[in-house]
Amino acid sequence: MSFRATILTLFPKMFPGPLGESLAGRALATGVWSLDAKDIRAHTTDRHRSVDDTPFGGGAGMVMRPDVIAAALAGARDGRPTYYLTPRGRVFTQADAENLAAGPGVVLLCGRYEGIDQRAIDSSGAAEISIGDYVLSGGELAAMVMLDTIVRLLPGVMGAAESAEEESFAAGLLEYPHYTRPAEWNGRAVPEVLLSGNHAAIAAWRRAEAEKLTRERRPDLWAAYTAAIASTAPRP
Ligand code: SAH
Repeated sequence: MSFRATILTLFPKMFPGPLGESLAGRALATGVWSLDAKDIRAHTTDRHRSVDDTPFGGGAGMVMRPDVIAAALAGARDGRPTYYLTPRGRVFTQADAENLAAGPGVVLLCGRYEGIDQRAIDSSGAAEISIGDYVLSGGELAAMVMLDTIVRLLPGVMGAAESAEEESFAAGLLEYPHYTRPAEWNGRAVPEVLLSGNHAAIAAWRRAEAEKLTRERRPDLWAAYTAAIASTAPRP
């Protein structure tokens, strides 16, 4: 059974969008995964097909109605993990992508305006998830970011199996730098060890570069990495 993604959105025409190209697009075309973008507006019951209303307590903007969202969720859920994309959620990580890629699929609920009536989220049990500490105008791009990250991990989507294992975050480190031909370009040479053919030396160099980069750029990742190493080191 292939990975199934269902998106609940007011803008289904935004999909597959970028997910229809390149790696994800080829996997979609060959049935490695499937994508169903459902229009939330189909679940309205009033004459004006309204999906939103003004916030209780006052303030700017509009809020998406709980009855409409609950009906949309009820029509889509079937045991797959379900997420509401929101800047208030836990931040999505590579580890989440790996877990989700090993499962049957996802249901992703995209907000617009000021967001969704909290009762619809709470009563559904959907998990709240964010793609980072900034505010988008809608959940659609965030859903695409999650799906792109997950789909490239599905079996057969990427060429060599090890290409995912060595990447940034997979081992808790940022990735080492890459180089290709020409060996000398604009007066800049490729690090000599990479031309040596010595696989052990190359692996050691790459590991050292990954550690240096992570220490310099991401003290948060570095602290977690060194703590993990300390906890697995043999005790004296
Ligand atoms: N008023 C909200 C922001 C609403 S933005 C707040 O301050 O928290 C409108 C919609 O965009 C949200 O409902 C959500 O679905 C989506 N969105 C915005 N930023 C996001 C992010 N960083 N991650 C995931 N979804 C996001």
